Amino acid sequence: MTNQVSTAASRREAKFEANRPITTKAALWDARWAKINKTAKALIALSFNLKDHDKNKLKAPEKLLSIAKSNAVKAGFIALEVCSRCGGTGKFSWNSRTGSKCFGCHGHGKQIPSATAVLKAVKQAAKRGEKVSR
Ligand SMILES: [Zn+2]
Repeated sequence: MTNQVSTAASRREAKFEANRPITTKAALWDARWAKINKTAKALIALSFNLKDHDKNKLKAPEKLLSIAKSNAVKAGFIALEVCSRCGGTGKFSWNSRTGSKCFGCHGHGKQIPSATAVLKAVKQAAKRGEKVSR
């Protein structure tokens, strides 16, 4: 009888575990990591020493991707490109709330190149022996 109860209880426990939502930050990080594309993963892996970081404290993969891209620009591995939305004018269609400021470049007229282009540039920098990760 005692045995039966504990079996039912452990089955309940197992079911509970399986249906439990993701609660730890590390597990959430892994779930988000699974959703981003191969290029983004490669760029993040090149730009940060992920093994040395605690996933419970690490920024979300999407955030790391944008940091990796802007760091590559700051380090001079790749130059900003002309905004594809406004063609470099910084202006787009007018509306009463935001005026005519381009949403693609926040009015700067330049944008960070694609992850594919940045990854290529970072790989080349690594090949030249430059420090690309932190
Ligand atoms: Zn623009």
